[in-house]
Amino acid sequence: MHLEKITSSEQAIKMEEKHGAHNYHPLPVVLKKGEGVHVWDVEGKKYYDFLSAYSAVNQGHCHPRIIGAMHDQASTLSLTSRAFYNDVLGPYEKYITEYFKFDKVLPMNTGAEAVETAIKIARKWAYERKGVKEQEAQIIVCENNFHGRTTTVISFSNDENARKNFGPYTPGFIKIPYNDPEALEEALKSNDNIAGFLVEPIQGEAGVFTPEDDFMKKAKALCEKHNALFIADEIQTGIARTGALLAVCGNCTCEGHCERQETYSRPDILILGKALSGGNYPVSAVLADDAVMNVIQPGQHGSTFGGNPVASAVGVAALEVVKDEHLAQNARKLGKLFRDELNKYIENSDLVKLVRGRGLLNAIVVNDSEESSTAWDICMALKENGLLAKPTHGNIIRFAPPLVMNEEELMDCVQIIIKTLKTFEK
Ligand SMILES: *Cc1c(COP(=O)(O)O)cnc(C)c1O
Repeated sequence: MHLEKITSSEQAIKMEEKHGAHNYHPLPVVLKKGEGVHVWDVEGKKYYDFLSAYSAVNQGHCHPRIIGAMHDQASTLSLTSRAFYNDVLGPYEKYITEYFKFDKVLPMNTGAEAVETAIKIARKWAYERKGVKEQEAQIIVCENNFHGRTTTVISFSNDENARKNFGPYTPGFIKIPYNDPEALEEALKSNDNIAGFLVEPIQGEAGVFTPEDDFMKKAKALCEKHNALFIADEIQTGIARTGALLAVCGNCTCEGHCERQETYSRPDILILGKALSGGNYPVSAVLADDAVMNVIQPGQHGSTFGGNPVASAVGVAALEVVKDEHLAQNARKLGKLFRDELNKYIENSDLVKLVRGRGLLNAIVVNDSEESSTAWDICMALKENGLLAKPTHGNIIRFAPPLVMNEEELMDCVQIIIKTLKTFEK
């Protein structure tokens, strides 16, 4: 393999700058190795990873069990396409549908593709089951949503930077404020053509915006009442991140997935990605029961790589790790500790306004404008102190470490964060 050797961060950054499209603005750190909760840069400096690749690496970097499954399958059979059957997809489909308790799964690769898939299923369901007139189906979405980067998905974003000059936009979306059941009811009532309500249980990219505890329950009930599909995008919140297997499990404390009536707002369509592979491979999935999923017939949707043998093996291993290592419980326990410790600090802070989140998906909001560079400057200082995090806005920093962290490591990280924040106090 003729891969040019990188010997300094500066060299790697310059190379990307020259040869790569400038569609990201990374923190200036060049990583070369990851293990568990840690990553190392090319100069050999060790960091705590407090982003986890936007919650893809919930199981920790290079988890040996997931890498083992990937390696074994990659050297046996990697891709057949769906033109033929393979001997791993079926067992994966059985495993994941039993795990999350849905009749069927449709396997894709990236999160945005899975969202597109859910939109297509919901529209088709509206025409063929609900009786909506052709071309009239509408999907309700929330302001400040993030569901990916495809042309259709950015059509219903209200982030100007993500949208501007990418039109014409895909029609068929109605936007309502997040965390507003009245607005949802109004939208559902005022229109007979609603296919579904697409929502993030916590808005990650918006800055870990955490709704009222009963928002999901109310949204689910309203969708049911008005015969619209309740579609949960759990690409970032799902798979133990928020201290339960799914964020729509609410505050349920069980080990796995029990469907407790009081807490669980069961989606009609569940969208997963990111941690479904533990960050080792692009694996996404859309889950639904037969009444919804059976609207899709041969030739109507697909992907060359979706459901490939490696992805299937990786998916099973990644989900096994979540259960066997009790990651939901750990995220719940450490998340509470994290917020408690930061709240103690905030009491006497002029800089940090609040910490919010659930499980190990948290963010702090600092006393400055959304356009300021304060959050970026703090992240640069955190990097110097051995911890990597990224702003979601000029004044918001998300904190989302791998869920395999232990209490001692978390307390070490809390010390780094507080020590760093103190240098920014006026
Ligand atoms: C990351 C993310 C997506 C998009 O996933 P990609 O794999 O980047 O396409 C969609 N929805 C949510 C909530 C996400 O966090």
